[in-house]
Amino acid sequence: MIVVMKRFTNRTALITGGTSGIGFATARRLLDEGAYVVITGRDQARLDAAAERLGSERVLPVRADVSVDADLDLLVRRVETWRGALDVVFANAGIADFKSEFTPEDFDRTVGINFKGVFFTIQKALPLMGDGGAVVINASWTLHRGLPVASLYAAGKAAVHNLARTFGTDLAPRGIRVNSVSPGYIATEMYRSAIDPDAQDRILAEVPLGSLGHPDDVAAAVAFLASEDASYITGQDLVIDGGLVGAAPLGL
Ligand code: NAD
Repeated sequence: MIVVMKRFTNRTALITGGTSGIGFATARRLLDEGAYVVITGRDQARLDAAAERLGSERVLPVRADVSVDADLDLLVRRVETWRGALDVVFANAGIADFKSEFTPEDFDRTVGINFKGVFFTIQKALPLMGDGGAVVINASWTLHRGLPVASLYAAGKAAVHNLARTFGTDLAPRGIRVNSVSPGYIATEMYRSAIDPDAQDRILAEVPLGSLGHPDDVAAAVAFLASEDASYITGQDLVIDGGLVGAAPLGL
């Protein structure tokens, strides 16, 4: 028998990039556990469609590009008007740009979303959090192990994991915990657009558990870190990767 926990009854969560993949799965998980959930994205039509698929009165879709300061200000105001306070922030929105050479524009775009966007999402949400609550940042297994042509992406993910440590230290006196998750290969739009289908068999051979992860696998870990079950955990990274990071490459 599966017991559905209700760890977030009457709590409010903000999830950036909540229209697809891991963000969407986490929105559904937190809703199932009783939360009110704000999902964000850049496209209003996609947001509305995602809110409809979630099918709950406890969802508020808000258009906001995390790399745009004014959008984040508006987002925080909408959350405040809707619920007055925030208990959980999942800084999830991100992009993957994999190549061996980058222009300064590429750099600004990736850093603007994957690092600056995470930093300011958290900083601007903090006044709504009062004393207590949890922040979870979506990092990546690539902060633990080298991946070819992923330099910009992986460096940004290492940076946001470091935010979990530093914000985690800064915010501990307020009772706010900050952790990151590092998904491995998870079957989402990002995975499908970034990974060559011909590489799939080689990738699966590197994953000890032998399959891609499902967005729900990451959502469960986010829900754990955001909940009171993780009340003594802060500044950490939780890897959800089927064993990828811990295993030696098969080519050895
Ligand atoms: P996804 O493409 O389904 O989700 C990314 C989400 O971020 C989308 O909803 C997109 O609209 C949103 N987004 C992108 N730029 C944005 C912006 N400027 N403002 C607001 N929203 C924006 O893919 P996903 O795999 O669910 O990715 C979610 C997170 O997981 C990302 O941070 C990604 O780096 C991380 N991640 C994914 C994998 C994987 O294998 N899928 C592995 C490690 C880490």
